Amino acid sequence: MYELMIRTNFAAAHSLRDYNGPCARLHGHTWQVEVVLTGRQLDSYGMLVDFRELKSRTKKIIEELDHQDLNALEPFAHNNGGNPTAENLSRYLFERLKAKFSSLQREVKITLVRVCESPEACAAYWEED
Ligand SMILES: [Zn+2]
Repeated sequence: MYELMIRTNFAAAHSLRDYNGPCARLHGHTWQVEVVLTGRQLDSYGMLVDFRELKSRTKKIIEELDHQDLNALEPFAHNNGGNPTAENLSRYLFERLKAKFSSLQREVKITLVRVCESPEACAAYWEED
């Protein structure tokens, strides 16, 4: 098996609903995102997936979140997808990326998305086989 990982980041505000603490107030983070993709078969270039491809597909989704109030976005508004925590963001990004990569011909899959709201505080989401 091969594994690829890319890192990117975006800046966005959030607040935690029904939470007793300072995070209930609107505040911002530069969210760090790691996307992990795995597969068995390399292409004729010796690549699992071109890093450029992985980065550009990820960027399109990240751009929708960048410089936004996450609570106001549809996935998290009205508590649809829960609070915009690092946990829920990692699940949201995983599901979006999984859909974006399902169109690839070869057997590659997004296996994990990690979201860090600071260098010391990260959450990850993946699905068991
Ligand atoms: Zn926060």
